[in-house]
Amino acid sequence: LTDKFNTTFKKLSGRGRITEANVSDAMNEVRKALLEADVNYKVVKQFCKDVKQAAMGAEVINSLKPGQLMVKIVQDELTKLMGPEDSNIFFVSPGPTVILLAGLQGSGKTTTAAKLAYRLKKEGRKPMMVAVDLQRPAAIQQLQTLGEQIEVPVHCDFDTKDAVKVSKSGVKEAKKAGCDTVILDTAGRLHVDDELMTEVSNVAKATSPHQIYLVCDAMIGQDAVNSAKEFNNRLELDGVILTKLDGDARGGAALSVKAVTGKPVKFIGLGEKIDNLEHFHPDRMASRILGMGDVITLVEKAQEQFDEKEAEKMQNKMAKGTFGLDDFLKQMAKIRKMGGLMSMLKLMPGIGNKLEGLNMDDKEFNRIEGIIHSMTPAERSEPDMLNPSRRRRIAAGSGVNVTDVAGLVKQFRQSREMMKMMASGGGGGLGAMKGM
Ligand code: GDP
Ligand code: MG
Repeated sequence: LTDKFNTTFKKLSGRGRITEANVSDAMNEVRKALLEADVNYKVVKQFCKDVKQAAMGAEVINSLKPGQLMVKIVQDELTKLMGPEDSNIFFVSPGPTVILLAGLQGSGKTTTAAKLAYRLKKEGRKPMMVAVDLQRPAAIQQLQTLGEQIEVPVHCDFDTKDAVKVSKSGVKEAKKAGCDTVILDTAGRLHVDDELMTEVSNVAKATSPHQIYLVCDAMIGQDAVNSAKEFNNRLELDGVILTKLDGDARGGAALSVKAVTGKPVKFIGLGEKIDNLEHFHPDRMASRILGMGDVITLVEKAQEQFDEKEAEKMQNKMAKGTFGLDDFLKQMAKIRKMGGLMSMLKLMPGIGNKLEGLNMDDKEFNRIEGIIHSMTPAERSEPDMLNPSRRRRIAAGSGVNVTDVAGLVKQFRQSREMMKMMASGGGGGLGAMKGM
């Protein structure tokens, strides 16, 4: 979708002013692009009407080229279409607040249950997850494993196929354990069918959830929106959680789901990892779709992980050249937490589309981390002492070749030299980096 819009608006640039004719031309392209992106046709129709109206009424400001003005209008209308922003969860007191997750099989309910629990836990709440998907024993185990990983209790019962029973005992258990939030991970089917809907609505009736969220796979585009419509007819949905947006280049589901169901997108899933769940910001989504890059998200993500004081400490170390492998490891852990370098870079304007197909996975990071972990603290802070026999020991300890250890040390020395130069060469380079 991004590429399509880019060419459309390029055509508009250079022309003196917005006229009815060139708006019509542009809108034809926008319409085509949206339909190709799998946006619901009714939504497309209304959207184009709104944009056209806004464009005709807009004053052409001198400093803005007509193409730029059109981009702005389209961006504003896209934002309106997906908004308003509504990521708040309604909590009751006294608790527990019951949140039911519904959705098709494979849409990401179980993963999202854990991501949400993790997020709430970080915000100071005490969540409990309940395994209501009793179709396969593996589904319960999946939730248990995730629960262990994030240290959130999971209520389950391997001896029953009765979803209502488990969900009721889950809520009771949560109360007893002093948990303030209960997340019900329900069963899905491949398609919407009566059996599924009946089961989910029975669970809903029995537990009176305070929030019902539909978990929707953005990658299936309009199918996701169609199923959302059906779920919305049968359940009192409070919102939608769109998963796998990291794999959805077209943006069709994100664009139509609010317009079709009338329910806000509460959260978005941007990867398989436990912290890849974020608030949905319609304005940022709109600029992402238009290919401007989601700079604000990028900066926020970086800030969350990079504490100002620590940055200063690091900078001093770098300047003095006392930056050791331990510090190196710490920095790396931060980058990993930020969702990896690649996912960060993908958010940058103009870079995102160039990275398609390029994938730097965690393996390289893991290898480096393994090597550093096999060093003694003294070796980490003073890598110069790594003589051949030490290198052999480290290589054996971390299961790599001696040349890998040598390579890491060399790489580290080079970057330390570079950092020393940058840090002492005036505030410029690192000062700017610190701000990240
Ligand atoms: P459920 O059947 O609805 O419970 O779906 P699961 O939670 O088991 O998820 C199905 C698959 O989708 C798993 O492989 C998840 O790792 C993956 N998944 C879930 N959310 C996301 C996401 O936001 N991004 C990506 N890339 N994968 C996801
Ligand atoms: Mg599941």
